[in-house]
Amino acid sequence: MNILFAASEIFPYAKSGGLADVAHALPDALRKEKHTVYTIMPLYHIVDRAKYKIVFSGLSFDYWLRGVRHQFDVFYSEDAPHDLFVYNPIICDRMGLYHDANGEFGDNGLRFGLFSYAVLEVMIRQKLKVEVLHINDWQSALVALLIKTRYKLDTRTILTIHNLAYQGIFSKELMYDLEIDWEKCFKPEGLEYFDSVNFLKAGIFYSDVVTTVSKTYAHEIQTPLFGYGLDHVLRLNTYKLVGIVNGISTEIYDPKKDKDLYKTFSTKRYKGKSDNKIALCEALGLPEPQRPLFVFIGRFTSQKGVDLLLDGLNLFKDFEANFVILGSGEEYYNHRFAVLAHNFSNIHIEVRYDEALSHRLYASADFLLMPSTFEPCGLNQMIAMRYGTLPIVSKTGGLHDTVTDFTDAFDRQNIQGIGITFGEHNLYWLLHAIAKALSLYANSEKFKALSKHNMEVDNSWKLSALEYVKLYQGA
Ligand code: ADP
Repeated sequence: MNILFAASEIFPYAKSGGLADVAHALPDALRKEKHTVYTIMPLYHIVDRAKYKIVFSGLSFDYWLRGVRHQFDVFYSEDAPHDLFVYNPIICDRMGLYHDANGEFGDNGLRFGLFSYAVLEVMIRQKLKVEVLHINDWQSALVALLIKTRYKLDTRTILTIHNLAYQGIFSKELMYDLEIDWEKCFKPEGLEYFDSVNFLKAGIFYSDVVTTVSKTYAHEIQTPLFGYGLDHVLRLNTYKLVGIVNGISTEIYDPKKDKDLYKTFSTKRYKGKSDNKIALCEALGLPEPQRPLFVFIGRFTSQKGVDLLLDGLNLFKDFEANFVILGSGEEYYNHRFAVLAHNFSNIHIEVRYDEALSHRLYASADFLLMPSTFEPCGLNQMIAMRYGTLPIVSKTGGLHDTVTDFTDAFDRQNIQGIGITFGEHNLYWLLHAIAKALSLYANSEKFKALSKHNMEVDNSWKLSALEYVKLYQGA
């Protein structure tokens, strides 16, 4: 099949979270199954054009909206010619993807509205014979509305919701700037949302199929607790809503080959894992590397359970264990973690985004902390498993679907990855889970067996990519 995959971030070109990983790994898995997949994303200022050999395709065009001329240039990567990029100064010429230190960019609605136009214009002008347009999150959701109400094309659209908490809600005046048809679109079963416009909501109504990134999250988002104000919209569209669990790239995350590690390892050369831990503890100044090592890697936002971590630090300092926290995100949390960074000898805190360090942490850790309040799928727990690390997760969304508690793991068929799960999101249960982890770690033979089990769990994209293919064909 011919698929055009549009996303606002794609690894390795630009990444702020799991969307970028998925937007790289799913097209990659589909290409391996001999499908033709084009990807398209904005050519942000921060994308390293030289490193990825990104060159001008020869296509430039203007698109007029409400008397304003918007200019677009189309690029591609010489290393991966189906990876397309659009350059437009409003979308691309700034130092962040969606925000900077002062907060969200005020013109994100216009920026990603323009990106949605660009996706369709590139598809038409490049004469890409696309059967399915796979759009992702609110940043490309408007493509579905434009296809149905303005372009009137046969191309089917599939929208994947990676995180319902982000919807792209803007003032309705934006409809003028983007020349969106008021009569057709500004209605409850369309773009309208409490007298504003909601891009994701429009995407849900106008797409042919809506997917989200795990089966449990597909159920959860139809309830008021997880629905972020769109649960009724999702219940109305339940007939076309499907949950497909994400996979991870087994090439990027491969303990046998990973160049960022101190030492590569495998289930057979398992000692390499503890060599990584020793080297990491030395590099970060952590005491007694034989202690269990707990790590947290993620965006600093309440969703990731960072409030529990902040509340817990004063207790973690008394455990016979080491902790590393790597993350960045909302200014409030960045500040709080930065202030605490030098207070504890057994807790190392890094407030930044660091891909290479994250690989070393996955490889060195014994346990990954993931106390999310909700988690559409979550990739960290699967990446951790690949490196023989046991995830400690709250039982929600994709964490529920991908992690089995080690005490429940006997005699079950098709057991997925093993870790420690806790049902109630509070510090008591997190501490309880850590205590369970400490006693498991004390039984080194059992711990090692579970760690090796995790390294062999298949969390690749293979099966999920096939599920997507079925959906594309059905659409
Ligand atoms: P999100 O909700 O942020 O998309 P996911 O679990 O789906 O969460 O994906 C997170 C991805 O981002 C993983 O690849 C993780 O390793 C990476 N990541 C998050 N924060 C950092 C950081 N500070 N440094 C390096 N990698 C990070």
